[in-house]
Amino acid sequence: MERQITIKLSTEDSLKLTILDTTTVDDLISLIKTSSDLTNFKLINQGKKLTSQDSLSDIDDLILMKEESKKSKKKCYFKNCNVNYLKLVGDCQYCQGKYCHKHRLLENHDCNYLNQYKLLEHQKNAIKLENERTISSRV
Ligand SMILES: [Zn+2]
Ligand SMILES: [Zn+2]
Repeated sequence: MERQITIKLSTEDSLKLTILDTTTVDDLISLIKTSSDLTNFKLINQGKKLTSQDSLSDIDDLILMKEESKKSKKKCYFKNCNVNYLKLVGDCQYCQGKYCHKHRLLENHDCNYLNQYKLLEHQKNAIKLENERTISSRV
């Protein structure tokens, strides 16, 4: 049997989904993910978080709460790195990321701007060489 379930979002919006008797909480979550751009959220039923073990059979509406990503804001931006980023010196001036001592350098965090950076360094060196040459030729 098909029926409708209403998911209230934290905003004024709500999401209406059609589910079957056999739909599980996990199914519902993936359904929400495919029908919206939400990825990190929990479903609340009467003040309690819905878990995979819960049944949807007597639920008609749920509240969706966005969950903050598990990574704390102070952590290094590099993939799964869990080290706190360094203040100031950990900032990448190219991609605006914040990194720990290990991933601070562009090479180490696979910076998107690595190529531009290399080009820039190359140009800087070229200019430097050029200057040195003009200086030495003047002597
Ligand atoms: Zn790191
Ligand atoms: Zn970077």
